[in-house]
Amino acid sequence: MTMPQAAPKAVSVKHAVHHAEDMIQLKRVVKTYKNAAGEFIVLKGVDLTIRRGQFVAIVGKSGSGKSTLLNMITGIDHPTGGKVVVNNMDIYSVSESERSLWRGRNLGIVFQFFQLLPMLTLLENVMLPMDYVNHHDFEERPKRAMELLEMVGLADQAHKLPLAVSTGQQQMTAIARALATDAPLLVADEPTGNLDSKTANHIIDVFDELVRRGKTIVMVTHDPSLTARVTRTIIISDGELIDEAVAKSLPLLRHRHMLEITKQAKRLTVQPGEIILDLGKPVENLYIISSGTVNVEKKNGKAREVISHLKAGEFFGEIELLRGGRAIADVRAGHQPVELLAFPREDFLRIVEESPITAEALGRIVQDRLKEHSVSVKVKSTKVEKEKKKVESGKSRTQKTKGELKNVKIKTPGAKSKAKNIKPIKKTTRSKTVKRKA
Ligand code: ADP
Ligand code: MG
Repeated sequence: MTMPQAAPKAVSVKHAVHHAEDMIQLKRVVKTYKNAAGEFIVLKGVDLTIRRGQFVAIVGKSGSGKSTLLNMITGIDHPTGGKVVVNNMDIYSVSESERSLWRGRNLGIVFQFFQLLPMLTLLENVMLPMDYVNHHDFEERPKRAMELLEMVGLADQAHKLPLAVSTGQQQMTAIARALATDAPLLVADEPTGNLDSKTANHIIDVFDELVRRGKTIVMVTHDPSLTARVTRTIIISDGELIDEAVAKSLPLLRHRHMLEITKQAKRLTVQPGEIILDLGKPVENLYIISSGTVNVEKKNGKAREVISHLKAGEFFGEIELLRGGRAIADVRAGHQPVELLAFPREDFLRIVEESPITAEALGRIVQDRLKEHSVSVKVKSTKVEKEKKKVESGKSRTQKTKGELKNVKIKTPGAKSKAKNIKPIKKTTRSKTVKRKA
């Protein structure tokens, strides 16, 4: 067996360069607050890259640092350490007033409690940001504001004061206001936190449509039913980000366990075709696939039979760790280099012991996989075909969350929308959950 080569600091290497297609890049961002009790570290060195056109949910327990993280991106607050690049601008390298003007042109911000000015009509509220950054000709602003209100279905309410409309309509107005300067990035802190679930879903319909038209959206939410509808979910736990492959593969774990795996697992890169698990040899780790694919193979006489393909966000080695220790199949890297997280047996077994729901889910996965192993010997060709189809259609066996079960691929977002071409967003009740690949 060839030992996979460790890729030192794979994570930070990945974040070293800013690409044009990156909308947001945080590098080692630290935020501390000082109070009477001493220093309190809220963000503990966050690395994060968000690409243009992504619809990202940031989730985490109350107090985990979600709002602080957003404030680092918007420039509302400033980090104690690290670097933040948004839309190609190193936002903390400029003065406060430059940043403020930059913010007005580059970001739309939506808050939980709307923050509309109560003495202004909805239309006037939407016009405010245009006045602030001098966007659009003065005479054009009311027309532009009306178009935006029309887009969110509020044209007939335009001349009312905020308190004369529903909370859902107030939030729609706040979204229209956030779009006033046609900024490419929309940032929202619990935008549905104060709304009923039907209205919340309508807000996500609007966001979904905006992403389709080319916007990038970063939304803090603690509503798990909404995260099923975004491109990408980032979990923050105690000021640190959880590895997305860990969260995807073991979604039922407690955040602190996910974080432990994120921090303790070794990062490995395995070259195409290289063996990772060797039939009959002891298995010492749970392996979580971070990128690339692996093939699970059985020897069949001299031939090799591929039993299944596993991809990013799936794991292997659990059967061996939970039942005995020796590899029951070969696992080999696919056509691309594979990035893996290797998490040691003892720690894995302890976490499973502390996590009854995950233990139960793992039990089912082990049963399914074992069944597949024995069945595959009899119906090898059809089985391989089935697996291939599963992989192609994006279906495979991890612990599925409700949302992931409805994983439907759609087109990548098109070109940036131009203000004048904005068409009304219809109130749709989508039956299919739409998910885009990260
Ligand atoms: P979340 O949005 O995830 O609920 P926050 O980012 O608001 O969490 O806060 C994270 C932690 O930082 C909390 O413990 C909070 O009390 C603390 N915190 C936030 N803002 C400040 C501040 N201005 N001064 C001191 N502590 C703060
Ligand atoms: Mg918050």
